[in-house]
Amino acid sequence: MRIFQTVAEIQKYLLEINELRHTSVGFVPTMGALHDGHLSLIAASKTKTAITVCSIFVNPTQFNDKQDFDKYPIQIDRDLELLLSAGCDVVFVPNVEEIYPNGTLEKTGIDLGFIGKTLDAAHRPGHFEGVLQVVKRLLDIVQPDILFIGQKDYQQCMVLTKLVEHYQLPVQIEICPTLREQDGLAMSSRNARLNAEERIAAVQLSKALFTIKEHIHHADLLALIKEQLETLHQNRLISVEYIVAVNGKTLQTIDSYQENTPITLLIAAKVGDVRLIDNVIVS
Ligand code: AMP
Repeated sequence: MRIFQTVAEIQKYLLEINELRHTSVGFVPTMGALHDGHLSLIAASKTKTAITVCSIFVNPTQFNDKQDFDKYPIQIDRDLELLLSAGCDVVFVPNVEEIYPNGTLEKTGIDLGFIGKTLDAAHRPGHFEGVLQVVKRLLDIVQPDILFIGQKDYQQCMVLTKLVEHYQLPVQIEICPTLREQDGLAMSSRNARLNAEERIAAVQLSKALFTIKEHIHHADLLALIKEQLETLHQNRLISVEYIVAVNGKTLQTIDSYQENTPITLLIAAKVGDVRLIDNVIVS
């Protein structure tokens, strides 16, 4: 496994490899503190491409909350061990100056329309602008054939699809399913910040979504959501930002079940002071 810290080094290496073997490159961008969810993206990349590149970069421009950034878990040695065992070929671990040599102010300015205004975009102002900025830069550096991302970040998948469309980038996007802990909690680097009591509470987020999905065909959707919201609010550790059913293609809110409409359920909530998100596709 090759590890690079600078843009010049990784680009030189990927160029050489490409000249030698005309090989396909899969790319898995991450913020580190890796778990099995991340490793499933590496595994997916390994089945579809010849060279798998993973980046670890905690991007400061996508954090609207400074405390969240300061407390983001960092465990680079363990991450590198995990990537080595997963068979990752190349790891890119740049610092902020490598990614933003001209400072962090220059954003893509892509108009995301409604998906740039709703849900996480509304609750985390500037977040997706930061995501667009860093992923555009990383794609320019790595120039992969396939970008592997997780459905866990549902809205982010839509944002990155827009990014690729906007610049007509020659990269395919592969969205991989959400990996969960045994009790159903979606794996997330932020789970490491939950204390024992919060960890027990956190499972209620996915439970709420699965309960709605289970009953959606034969119950009033808004009443179902309200019931789950009330159950969540009974736990003093949980503070819900949103729990909604949306059209899975547009993110417009849906208030009744319709058979031919793609439906996704999404939740964002703080458990203690850790913000978690999750989603479940209904149809
Ligand atoms: P992050 O390090 O949180 O920025 O995540 C890096 C990539 O891993 C993103 O594409 C995420 O959507 C994906 N990811 C995060 N959690 C999971 C999970 N539980 N299952 C599958 N993919 C995930």
